Amino acid sequence: MKLLFSIFVFHYLIFGQDNIYDRPLQKHPDFDIDVLHYDINLKINDLQKTFFGKTSINFKVLKSKIDTVRFDSETYKVSLIKDNDVSLQFIQTDSSLIILPSKTLYKDEIIEYTIYYQSDGKIANPADYNMGGVKVLGLGFFEESDYNPALVQTHSWPEGARHWFPSNDHPADKATSKIVTTVRSDWKVLSNGSLIDVKPTDSGDSLTYTWQLDLPNSTYLYVMVAGPFEVIQDYYKDIPMSYWVYPKDKKNAHLSFHRTPEIMEFFEKEYGVPYPWPKMDQITIPGINGGAESTTATILGETTIHDEKAEKDFPSHWLVAHEAAHQWFGDYITMSNWHHAWLNESFATYGEYLYSTHLYGRDEGKINLWKKKQSYLNEYRNRYSRPMVHPYWEYPNQNFDSHIYPRGAAVLHMLRVILGDKIFKEFQTVFLNKFAFGNPNTQDLIDVVNEVSKQDLSWFFQQWVLSAGHPQIDINTKFKNKELIVEIKQIQEGIKTPEKYYIPAKISFFMKNEIVEKEIIIDERNSIHRFPMKKEPIFVRFDPDDDLLIEVTQKHSYNGLLNKLKRDNLIGRMRAAESLYQYLDNPKTIKILKQTTMNDSSWIVRKSAFQAVGSKMSSKEFISAYQSEKHSEPRKVIISEMSKFYPSESLKLIRENLDTDNSYIVQEEMIKNLGNIGDESDILRLKSYEEEWSPRRILKNATVKSLSKLRDK
Ligand SMILES: [Zn+2]
Repeated sequence: MKLLFSIFVFHYLIFGQDNIYDRPLQKHPDFDIDVLHYDINLKINDLQKTFFGKTSINFKVLKSKIDTVRFDSETYKVSLIKDNDVSLQFIQTDSSLIILPSKTLYKDEIIEYTIYYQSDGKIANPADYNMGGVKVLGLGFFEESDYNPALVQTHSWPEGARHWFPSNDHPADKATSKIVTTVRSDWKVLSNGSLIDVKPTDSGDSLTYTWQLDLPNSTYLYVMVAGPFEVIQDYYKDIPMSYWVYPKDKKNAHLSFHRTPEIMEFFEKEYGVPYPWPKMDQITIPGINGGAESTTATILGETTIHDEKAEKDFPSHWLVAHEAAHQWFGDYITMSNWHHAWLNESFATYGEYLYSTHLYGRDEGKINLWKKKQSYLNEYRNRYSRPMVHPYWEYPNQNFDSHIYPRGAAVLHMLRVILGDKIFKEFQTVFLNKFAFGNPNTQDLIDVVNEVSKQDLSWFFQQWVLSAGHPQIDINTKFKNKELIVEIKQIQEGIKTPEKYYIPAKISFFMKNEIVEKEIIIDERNSIHRFPMKKEPIFVRFDPDDDLLIEVTQKHSYNGLLNKLKRDNLIGRMRAAESLYQYLDNPKTIKILKQTTMNDSSWIVRKSAFQAVGSKMSSKEFISAYQSEKHSEPRKVIISEMSKFYPSESLKLIRENLDTDNSYIVQEEMIKNLGNIGDESDILRLKSYEEEWSPRRILKNATVKSLSKLRDK
């Protein structure tokens, strides 16, 4: 699942800072029954926005005896329940269906009930379930719009399945499925598993699609989407991988999906387990932003489709990789309960990083991981801090935040560094095989790591997974009597935050002509580390590969910063450019930062240098930088900085280049700035952008705001 965090932002804006430690404690559910198979039949009337359902549930009794059988069931009305030919009595409450069997049921008995129900036009309101960020929970109808055709879509994550079929709607109860859907004959239907039949109904105006998955699967991963989709057939080996898109999107679909077979191959190698399902479809829908990993049929927000120009700023491969990784971590093995969701999301999010590194190389991989850490730190600073396993929640989706997505990925990365690639991969393979089609919890993962690595890594999980926060350290260095003394203080504080972390780390000494790297262990709140050496290093770099999830405060000399800007890795160079901002009164700093904007090999360093030195650039320098800068991110900063310091020259540049810049995010920045520095004559220029397509409608949204500013002038 990847929701781009809109749900959480929404929740935060409405309810403010909630105390996550006051939420109710959740225990593992004590099931009376184990569902073995769902046979779901739906008849969709899209014009009336209603559906009829008939679901047969085959289940085994787990308790020694039971006199009622309960299913999760909401929104639709149940009219009849049958046990073979016998009609059963039942009670339907707001959230449950309680069935009274004709006789007491005993342990290990296998029973099948058939439940008839109808929606009567009732649709669940996601906001009632803390799901304000999605448009559908359960089964929803969309009318045709400028963006999507009329279609029907289900959203089962996290507790949406119960709104379209009665179920034991919990990740820990997996069952096989047959999903049979009847829709108008000009529509197609996608669901879990393999398509085993399509046939017209007797009336001839509808088609019935039968999809079947003979492998057990959790209900939040069940899906059904119906609409006038175009299907592009692809393969990985002999496994079908189809891309289902709106007819208008067919020409651009390959940009979003063409890497899918390569991504599957990548994860097969990474996880050491063959793709576990019979096929893989991906389908675009209007109801979400990111995606959801419904087994064998991932749903992706329609905004994932984009044109060639958007490919560099809004690529889809990371989302495809995230959802593909879930087919192993999430679908093949599934968290035992919602507060173990990091077992799903951290692996999928780390999958984004791994695939990015594979596709673009180590430097872009570093940027990817660095951004993930910033995203967690943003939540840590502005919202809350919690352990990744936190069994206190009211709604399952409260577990899905930046702590388990980006922070989880950063934690897995540290585990990989400690274990080494070989053991880390071996642990993933063993974990996946051991819990195939099952539901592990966090302790199960710890046990496998310990078993495979032949060491006790409980300390790692205790401090990184079962505790909150991260190390915040102060570093001071001094050179005395041919010895470098490095003083390290851990200063982190907070609820459930370790007073001291155990941190195996690297430290690098940048000498005039060489870099000396040493390994250290930090295991006290305050520690002193001594390194004999002939000369004082020009600068000292803690965690030189940026492997740790850590905040470091460290003073560098001016000369140290200048050297860091030249010699460190791209994350270090970017940080050096930021720090040099405080030395802008020295002409040497300005000269060097300007050189960095032109010469550094990494766009993220050039971007940071533009931000630092923008106030000291001439309008000519801005114009020439705009013309020569190939990457959109620093070019966007050039526009914003130039508009601040040279509004009239910037206005001229924007007017001349707005229509031809080859990046949507730079055009968006230009439109935003036109609203501030433009005049009446720009209204006409902007009007054409009101209707123009852009990824996630960024140009349209910026234009609406700027036009209103210009009209008010
Ligand atoms: Zn996910």
